[in-house]
Amino acid sequence: MKTDYDCIIIGGGPSGSTVATLLADAGRKVLVLERTQFPRFHIGESLMPETYWVFKRLGMLPKMYASHFVRKHSVQFVSASGRESQPFYFEDMNPHECSVTWQVVRSEFDEMLLDNAAEHGAEVWENASATDVVFEPTETDDYPRATGVVVKRGDQPPVTLSAKVVIDATGLSSLIQRKLDLKRPDPNLHKAAYFAHYKGAQRDSGRDEGATLVLTTKTSDGWFWYIPLPDDIISVGVVGAIDRLTGRKAPPEQVLEEEIANCPALIPRLANATRVSQVHVLSDFSYRSKRCAGEGWVLVGDAFGFLDPMYSSGVFLALKSGELAADTINAAFDNNDFSAAALGKWGPSLADGMQSIRQLVYAFYTPGFSFGKFVREFPNFKRNIVELLIGDVFKPGVNDVFNPMQAQVKIPSFTPLEDPAGKVPAAVMQRV
Ligand SMILES: Cc1cc2nc3c(=O)[nH]c(=O)nc-3n(C[C@H](O)[C@H](O)[C@H](O)COP(=O)(O)OP(=O)(O)OC[C@H]3O[C@@H](n4cnc5c(N)ncnc54)[C@H](O)[C@@H]3O)c2cc1C
Repeated sequence: MKTDYDCIIIGGGPSGSTVATLLADAGRKVLVLERTQFPRFHIGESLMPETYWVFKRLGMLPKMYASHFVRKHSVQFVSASGRESQPFYFEDMNPHECSVTWQVVRSEFDEMLLDNAAEHGAEVWENASATDVVFEPTETDDYPRATGVVVKRGDQPPVTLSAKVVIDATGLSSLIQRKLDLKRPDPNLHKAAYFAHYKGAQRDSGRDEGATLVLTTKTSDGWFWYIPLPDDIISVGVVGAIDRLTGRKAPPEQVLEEEIANCPALIPRLANATRVSQVHVLSDFSYRSKRCAGEGWVLVGDAFGFLDPMYSSGVFLALKSGELAADTINAAFDNNDFSAAALGKWGPSLADGMQSIRQLVYAFYTPGFSFGKFVREFPNFKRNIVELLIGDVFKPGVNDVFNPMQAQVKIPSFTPLEDPAGKVPAAVMQRV
């Protein structure tokens, strides 16, 4: 059967652009659908150093070096009592240019990635919303086969386009997860975030100028990110339990101000600052899909899963999942095999990498646990922690740090990635 495209990618964020670039590089006929017009605001400004290697494959490094994005050398933690940990400098562990990464303005960064995908041969439609994915039942998998996408462009009537592979890169909207009931929330991470941009806030100097700060609130029931961006802007956001933050029923501005007042280490940093953006709110963002693929469909980036903003792993995992998925999809074309098993081969390694970061997330949220204290007690494992903060989650032996840590941190189990032969609830099939 003739199809309109080899691959249709829904979503032009970092994961969608990555998969589009690498599929186009392999000569596939690729269409990216992006419902907004870029540049558009997005949160997720602090990168992990391991993004370097994906940038290299995408041909993005020269553009990143030519950009005005702030260079990030380290992460530093500030405890509830205001005690500052030593900065975790990435290049101390690995003196290579990949160890210094960037704090990006997402509107510009995402546009650079999407333009790059177009330069590599992907067709890009902005203001083009995928309103549905077209599925049909299949006898070879319990989940249905994707055959195309319904697209609405501006005021035009919707059209249905067919593709061999539909890639869901819709971020938190998670189009396919919702449609096929694949979404599994992380059991104990019901968090919300309130965030905004500030101008004129305090900036450190030298190699600390671009450091991400993670500051715990006085009452230890929340934490702030403090991310220096270009043009004298600092991105400031608080993360805490949904009930505690949204349950206040107060305007977002008030919630953020009350939280800042509850973080003494932040107050002097913002003393001369002015808020220059609206206060944004996001909640319940920790989840993962039971599957990363089915027949003719693949999920990447946040459309597959998101952990927590704590270690700034989102963009790295979006890029990495895009890269792994693109290589797998290219192999599927080479073998003419678009089964769930073939398209899902990359999932277990990514899920393992996510699990490593997830354990660090749970460590941070464990009352009484402190990375500073842990490193003083187990100095030999400082290297492993820095490697994980860099995003080197696939390195053999990096998870050894969780042996001593598990005595101090309880990690609840999480839905394992489902075997593509797993049974599907009847209700899901009815929705198709
Ligand atoms: C509070 C918070 C703070 C964060 N901070 C960081 C951080 O500091 N560092 C970091 O690395 N990560 C961070 N993240 C995570 C990061 O934002 C995401 O992981 C990352 O943006 C995922 O990229 P993506 O391409 O998968 O999705 P997105 O970047 O969300 O892109 C999805 C795209 O799909 C489009 N789209 C959606 N639905 C449709 C549709 N139906 N049709 C067409 N297009 C569609 C959207 O318009 C969007 O452009 C944070 C997340 C949260 C919630």
